[in-house]
Amino acid sequence: MNNRNVAIKKIAELKPAAPASAKPFELDFYGEDVFSTAVMRKYLSKATAGKLLATLNEGLPLDAAIAADVAHAMKTWAMERGVTHFTHWFQPLTGSTAEKHDAFLDPTGTAEAIMSFSGKNLIVGEPDASSFPSGGLRCTFEARGYTAWDPTSPAFIKRHANGATLCIPTAFCSYTGEALDKKTPLLRSIQALQKSVTHLMSTFNQPKARVTATLGPEQEYFLIDKAFYLNRPDLVQTGRTLFGAPPPKHQQLEDHYFGSIKPRIIAFMTEVEEELWKLGIPAKTRHNEVAPAQFEIAPMFEELNLAVDHNMIVMEVLRQTAERHGLVCLLHEKPFAGINGSGKHNNWSVSYGKQNLLEPGADPHQNAIFLTVLSAIIRAVNKHSDILRTSTAYAGNDHRLGANEAPPAIVSIFLGDQLADVINQIEKGGAKSSKKAGTMRIGVDTLPPLPRDATDRNRTSPFAFTGNKFEFRAAGSSQSCAGVNVVLNTIVAESMDYMADQIEKFSKKEDFNSQLQKLLQAVIAENKRIIFNGDNYSQAWAEEAAKRGLPNMRTTLEGIKPLKDKANISLFAKYGVLTKVELDSRYEIFVEEYHRKIHIEGEIGLEMAKNIILPAAIKSYSKSVSALTAADGKVKAGISALSANAETIGALLDQLTPAIADLEAALHDKEAAIIAALVALRKVVDQLEGIIDDAEWPLPKYREMLFIY
Ligand code: ADP
Ligand code: MG
Repeated sequence: MNNRNVAIKKIAELKPAAPASAKPFELDFYGEDVFSTAVMRKYLSKATAGKLLATLNEGLPLDAAIAADVAHAMKTWAMERGVTHFTHWFQPLTGSTAEKHDAFLDPTGTAEAIMSFSGKNLIVGEPDASSFPSGGLRCTFEARGYTAWDPTSPAFIKRHANGATLCIPTAFCSYTGEALDKKTPLLRSIQALQKSVTHLMSTFNQPKARVTATLGPEQEYFLIDKAFYLNRPDLVQTGRTLFGAPPPKHQQLEDHYFGSIKPRIIAFMTEVEEELWKLGIPAKTRHNEVAPAQFEIAPMFEELNLAVDHNMIVMEVLRQTAERHGLVCLLHEKPFAGINGSGKHNNWSVSYGKQNLLEPGADPHQNAIFLTVLSAIIRAVNKHSDILRTSTAYAGNDHRLGANEAPPAIVSIFLGDQLADVINQIEKGGAKSSKKAGTMRIGVDTLPPLPRDATDRNRTSPFAFTGNKFEFRAAGSSQSCAGVNVVLNTIVAESMDYMADQIEKFSKKEDFNSQLQKLLQAVIAENKRIIFNGDNYSQAWAEEAAKRGLPNMRTTLEGIKPLKDKANISLFAKYGVLTKVELDSRYEIFVEEYHRKIHIEGEIGLEMAKNIILPAAIKSYSKSVSALTAADGKVKAGISALSANAETIGALLDQLTPAIADLEAALHDKEAAIIAALVALRKVVDQLEGIIDDAEWPLPKYREMLFIY
């Protein structure tokens, strides 16, 4: 039996558990592994809890004097829950999370020790961080990196089979204070947005209130059986399959999306949710996605910084829970060619006090604040669509953007009928009415009329208004949400300030309304080219967008160029989000990361072609030739079939060797050459898959990985 059949047999022998019988569900474990507000109140003195909560709820600077008390309380609480170690949990520029554990253990003499955790250990850490990408921000001889406690994201407990670790979310910066991570710029950008929104709201005479950016990231992923995964070196090394013929059935029957969830998968999902709920992560939605073996999990939205941290945890819990179920969770943007990839829809909004500023209300034209905020966002995206694109640029996403399953690399905004109509009226000189939500009958008399959303959906748009938030759909599934939101916050902050500055000129005047009307009219006239309500997948749009002068940066290397743009550099500096030096370091890191990823793909593709595919093809060819030789002269029937088979495999072998040589040579060339050589090699390999004896084919096939689980 070959590896594939061993894997299939293993899966066939799995016995799905029968549905459990009814028992009451208790939510009492929700958030039990989080150092939550309730825990703070219980474990801290009233005074200390009050100071910490002032930082959390009102954004006041943290009083460093309380650190020792908080650390002690955290340790006590954590140890009661089996924790022995703590770690500063941070998000270096690798895009994943990092942790270095230290035990609470504190030796007090020979064979004597206590468990302790000091205020200093809570507030700062100094990991020897010389091996994280810094893009030249630190030389190895000055490798100090500091982690700094982010009290706005609560500490939490990560459990493993025989213990647990207290994780303290932290920012990570260099000795000289440069951001070496994804969290620091995110926090800075949230602060910038808060200031600008406050500024804008003051021009509307709004009472002071707390500004909160909110995020609900929808996470897509694939699950395949681990036994297949382990037989695919390409998946193990790169997260995607470099070879694999398209299966006859893939997603064309559209029978997977929202389909009934298989028992093995729902068991996995339920365990994921249980893990997340313990961590206070509000996982709410789960379903089958479009592609076979593809799924989605979405949480209820939260404050942005917390939501970004939570999404990093979601990805980790997905991966680890999959392992326990004999599955592997693939977060790559395009694990399977020719089949829909995975994205991460970034649902973003801003609230002022309790008011969601993107809530249009029943009559949006009356809602001056809503329309001003909307215009500011339209302006922001139009002026800075280049750098917004940059935030989604990396190797994995190149396979997805523009592949008629995800938005194109051209950023545009979808507003929907109702708002597009309002915006049109404003541009023409004042909105007098807004299209009301009608009622819709669905042709079944027994059902009551359903209220219809005034705004329809457009699945092809990269940046869509979806009722009370914007959904940025270009982000990739494996990506941290931080980068995307750093850009979004910063460009919107700039536009909010612009609007506020303009409004200030007439805010005390009697004709405020007509002046505001004029301002909105001008802003819309100037920025309306970014609005597109049609099909973003069509070639016609690419042409139209070019006419409108909208950037279309198709690849990573093009997509990251805006980091070098002078206007972008001064924008990020002005808002204190990233300095030129920090932006440069990101550029360098992205170039290097792209280079390395493509090289890894090239090298593992080469290795597989040489050591797995070529031997299989040779074996198959020799078998075929031997059969032909043995039969020759003895029988007449079947000779032509034997020879045709040998000829076909032989011809493909003749193409395979030069394709391998080309890839080998391309490894010394530019990334584009490696990609082209891999594509050419794949063409030959996938044809071989179609002719070689199924029992002899060494790699799990698409029809197996995507359907047998
Ligand atoms: P869809 O139908 O596009 O999947 P959902 O209604 O399921 O949309 O919402 C998608 C995500 O948007 C969820 O995570 C949800 O919590 C989030 N969301 C809803 N309102 C807001 C908001 N005001 N700010 C940020 N995210 C929000
Ligand atoms: Mg959605």
